[in-house]
Amino acid sequence: MAKIGWIGLGNMGNPMSKNLLKAGHEVTVWNRTKAKADEILAEGAKWADTPKEIAETCDFIFTMVADGPTLQSVTLGENGVVAGLSSSKIVIDMSTVSPEESIKVNDAIEAKECKFLRAPVTGSTVLAQNATLGILTSGDRAAYDKALPLFEAMGKNQFYLGGSEEARVLKLSLNVMIGVTSQMMAEAVVLAEKAGLDVAQVCEVMAGSAVGSPLVGYKKALVSSGDYKAAFSVKLMMKDFDLAFAAAKQYDVAMPVTAVTRQALQAAAATGRGDKDFSVLTQVLEDQCGYKRP
Ligand code: NAP
Repeated sequence: MAKIGWIGLGNMGNPMSKNLLKAGHEVTVWNRTKAKADEILAEGAKWADTPKEIAETCDFIFTMVADGPTLQSVTLGENGVVAGLSSSKIVIDMSTVSPEESIKVNDAIEAKECKFLRAPVTGSTVLAQNATLGILTSGDRAAYDKALPLFEAMGKNQFYLGGSEEARVLKLSLNVMIGVTSQMMAEAVVLAEKAGLDVAQVCEVMAGSAVGSPLVGYKKALVSSGDYKAAFSVKLMMKDFDLAFAAAKQYDVAMPVTAVTRQALQAAAATGRGDKDFSVLTQVLEDQCGYKRP
């Protein structure tokens, strides 16, 4: 069984690392807030005091953190992963970050004669718990083949996309579709609500209709109940939209609908909803349109 290091025990990292433990691997964890490791330590994982210590003792080192600056601090910082690497290790980042941020990390890891896989995921916390995530990977092919059994312990659908930053770009493309879907759902739901229809029934019909994607199905409970506890926060979605705009500029692509949705996300954050699930866009629009649920 592999010696695995895991850095980042947030909404996603926690269930994903537990699935590696369940698959029988030896898992050592580090998280900025140690209390979030309590559960996995009780289940048999080990604790490391720094990301550097993880790199010194493990063969596969995973990171699942909020954003690019955090990825850079846990890898390139003084007590970061790179400082603890020796040759032939495989570092795998599963966070959503930009290609530019990713390349810097890759170069530092390759300078230590190690390999870096970019492996962002599709699917949210429930899929992370059920080990049914989609995993989009790019980077060295031989390293991917070695890591595949570990990916299979966390996800149902595996995609190898190329030797460099391909997975980063595709992940951002998917996330703008997800965010825009949430704004479309908001507009359709608020129209129906203001016309007097029952929100739970409206969501049920939408989820079963031609536009009923898996995403609409996952979000119908939050939108119906009005309880927008975050599976994926507004703040993180705003981060991904901004990364997508940077990529769109680089590749000369217009994204007008994405731009409008970014403004809706801003309104959500500006009204104190930054830590709510991004499907809170329905509530933002209800407020803007003067609608109060019965
Ligand atoms: P989260 O719950 O907010 O967790 C973020 C993690 O990053 C935590 O471990 C947090 O540590 C750590 N972190 C944040 N700032 C840090 C810093 N300055 N130094 C060290 N560690 C820091 O986020 P998440 O939902 O798990 O998402 C993780 C990544 O997966 C993100 O890139 C996100 O875009 C992507 N993603 C999320 C979903 C989803 O549905 N949630 C789906 C697909 C992809 P603390 O515990 O100390 O705060």
